[in-house]
Amino acid sequence: MLENLRIIGQVNAEFIATSLVHEGNRYLVLLDQHAVDERIRLERLRLEFGNDKQLFKRESLNFPIKLTIDMTEKHAKLVMSGLAGIHRDLQASGILCSIERCAEGVTALIREAPLQMLRKIIKRDSYENYLTPVKDVVTKTVLNEANITDRLSGRTMLFSHVLATEACARAIKFGHALDRQAMDNLLLGLAQCHLPFQCAHGRPTLQVVHYPN
Ligand SMILES: [Zn+2]
Repeated sequence: MLENLRIIGQVNAEFIATSLVHEGNRYLVLLDQHAVDERIRLERLRLEFGNDKQLFKRESLNFPIKLTIDMTEKHAKLVMSGLAGIHRDLQASGILCSIERCAEGVTALIREAPLQMLRKIIKRDSYENYLTPVKDVVTKTVLNEANITDRLSGRTMLFSHVLATEACARAIKFGHALDRQAMDNLLLGLAQCHLPFQCAHGRPTLQVVHYPN
């Protein structure tokens, strides 16, 4: 279906308007330029880094990072009784940390992370900044165990989180004017994606509007 979209033009420097004729019906299909580019970049990053096992090796941090995660006593108890699950999930992401109770809730001391992967994918940042996704994943995993975040959202694995964040940061933003060639490239790239209908964070890449006959 995506191969059959015909570009009409860019709308408001945010969307690519296209038309589609399918089984005699005419549709207007609006593509979100940021979401489309993000999806294409995510799948390319996956291809580039996904199979390189060497990248996921755990390394000791020069300076362990201490995180305080605020929560009630009731929630902190849930976390402490689910430590085995938390450690298992974090280790699957290449993260080693210890978790203890504290007055504010719990503290996590992060000692090891897959530094090579973070350095390679997050190119533009300092040591401090490329550890941000590690902190996010530890925080989310702990909050998940305490049932503070939505269970259905699932656990966030570090690698997927890093790729989604990078794809988003590098993708074309709203407000960016696109010429015909750029729009063609986005459509072509999207047609080659495995999951073309969602951005890296699950937002739809396109909206279909049916023209009345
Ligand atoms: Zn984004």
